[in-house]
Amino acid sequence: MTALRELLKSRFGFTDFRPSQEQVCEAVASGRDALLVMPTGAGKSLCYQLPGLARGGTTLVISPLLALIDDQVAKLKALGFRAEQIHSGRTREDSRKACVLYLQGELDFLFIAPERLGVRGFPEMLERRRPGLIAIDEAHCISEWGHDFRPDYRRLGERLRGLRPTPVIAMTATATPVVQEDIVQQLGMAGAERFIQGFRRTNIAIRVHEVPPSGRAHACRTVLKDTGRCPAIVYAPTRKAAEEVAAELKSVFRAEAYHAGMTPAAREDVQTRFLSGKLDVIVATVAFGMGIDKADVRTVVHAGLSGSVEGYYQEIGRAGRDGKPSVAILLYSYADQRTHDFFFNRDYPEVETLQKIYKSAGEAPLPPLPKEALREKAGKLDPETFEKALEKLWIHGGVRVDPEENVARGDPSWRRAYERQRKHRERSLQDMMGFARATDCRMLLFLRHFGDHGDKQGPCGSCDACGGTADQTRTLNEKERGIASLLLAACDDDGLSAGRLFERIVADEKGTSRREFEAVLEVLTRAKLLSVRTESFEKGSETISYRKVALTSQGARAKGSDLEALRVSASPWAEGEGEGRSSRKRKNRQASKKRASAAPDIAESLPPVSAGRLERLRSWRLQKARSQGVPAFRIFGDRVLFALIEHRPASLEELLEIHGLGPKLREKYGPEILEILR
Ligand code: ADP
Ligand code: MG
Repeated sequence: MTALRELLKSRFGFTDFRPSQEQVCEAVASGRDALLVMPTGAGKSLCYQLPGLARGGTTLVISPLLALIDDQVAKLKALGFRAEQIHSGRTREDSRKACVLYLQGELDFLFIAPERLGVRGFPEMLERRRPGLIAIDEAHCISEWGHDFRPDYRRLGERLRGLRPTPVIAMTATATPVVQEDIVQQLGMAGAERFIQGFRRTNIAIRVHEVPPSGRAHACRTVLKDTGRCPAIVYAPTRKAAEEVAAELKSVFRAEAYHAGMTPAAREDVQTRFLSGKLDVIVATVAFGMGIDKADVRTVVHAGLSGSVEGYYQEIGRAGRDGKPSVAILLYSYADQRTHDFFFNRDYPEVETLQKIYKSAGEAPLPPLPKEALREKAGKLDPETFEKALEKLWIHGGVRVDPEENVARGDPSWRRAYERQRKHRERSLQDMMGFARATDCRMLLFLRHFGDHGDKQGPCGSCDACGGTADQTRTLNEKERGIASLLLAACDDDGLSAGRLFERIVADEKGTSRREFEAVLEVLTRAKLLSVRTESFEKGSETISYRKVALTSQGARAKGSDLEALRVSASPWAEGEGEGRSSRKRKNRQASKKRASAAPDIAESLPPVSAGRLERLRSWRLQKARSQGVPAFRIFGDRVLFALIEHRPASLEELLEIHGLGPKLREKYGPEILEILR
């Protein structure tokens, strides 16, 4: 095996293996299948590149992101290797040349996107000269649990069959044991050697604080004021939250927001200033902050609960890339769970809803049903829920949908797959809440979560749990207990609005602040003595939403001693802030609610000019769907379609205001859409 070391030095110019690379390289070079789970930056690429060279022949690399492929090919070429790529971003001529080089045995590495294996004749071409090694990057995409669901990745196992017994190495930075098992199953490599390692970060101290949403901006300001806490990244759950936190921080720091609601030029400017040290803090939404690569980030603050422990781990991985001591601070409260639950229910409709659609879809030899007819037949589901459910059903193969959105029944196996995915998502949220609430060493929790069992070192010694400061809670004080009793007495199982409830409490217990009221309400909700639901009603053209508080059966039985056992956060920022802020937030929320509910039957109420525009936009969407061979809703859904017609954005900036129209879509089609709306 000195041969590998030799290659490491002569071809890659590295003096030594990093811990854990050598073992993987040996296993793969000797022809064994491998599953490699190591965090970002740990050096996974070498683990296929080196054994690939040692084995000889071409290493076939399957990678989902075109930008990543181009980057890797450039790096390998710079090292003097013969590397090529074939993907949709290249000309036919370039791809043809790459195939010829491959067949002549002139390539060390051939990079492809997974979709390429679905192109007729391509796998057969590869079979004419089998690769020496197959490397699959970002392998978590294969798993049906992954939310980055890519149907082409799912079919990899079956499509690669013709190339076996060439060994396969599957790599990812983020896979729990369940996902690891799924990858191995899907790829048909049950005998693969598993390397799950390197998840301990020794220079990040993790702190978790329970802080209500209204107090988070202030908490960010407080934690970042300590010396040596900047540069810092703050992750905010929404664009609005990012703006609010940035506004608060600006009074003390050079801080800017960074999210999808900004133009690419504005984002670029913020990023450049941050990278060059001209900004102290960048307040990003998770979707956007992941591209920020700066070695000396000292603090990562989460102003809200992440959706999964894997996601959270990746996000705090932005801290301390330079190896120097850094801090990760998570601010969360029970309110985050409600927010996540709301999105979960919106994005993962009930299995029974999908079942209704599945049953109503025409079965061959009947002709497929138009989408609207299907919605009627399935019991007039609300259009937004219907579209979401239809998309999920399509992803899992339960229906076939053509670009015109005619729907035919598909394969009944969708049910199991969807149920599993939905459960997995639900459990991810629970795990994250569990992580926040836990009082064990945070680093050990991570290791356990990923299944990094080789790491036998003990607790990290630097997180809040190790320092004995986790679980900062206290029992209710006398006033709070009084408010709690009043709350339980004022509610019944029908429920009433939080605003009305507050008025009643103030009438009885003079001097109760909104903050005290909210804190006690949260405690009682968490203890399941009260329940809180978001409800809405129409007032004129506006949708007003409010929280409805009801007594649970447990709450109806509660006694004074139950209240004595309740605990609230004793974190220094648990208090939250004044009320001006939260009422502003409420207004914003209403505004976006209103926007979201752009009525689907708007077409009827629009003047004829707009109807023409609607039709033009619709047929443009259809044409895009046809050229990509996907249902129209995959370009964008009806909700976005109607919002575009109603608000008629006139510039790229205004396009950002359309909810559900992400930056990718805007950059790709923005100008075309604006042209149609003109
Ligand atoms: P991953 O894919 O795990 O995120 P990469 O393979 O991109 O990580 O590697 C991250 C960085 O580490 C790269 O710049 C790479 O050149 C470097 N690297 C990898 N292995 C070694 C090594 N043995 N010695 C020094 N640097 C290494
Ligand atoms: Mg990588």
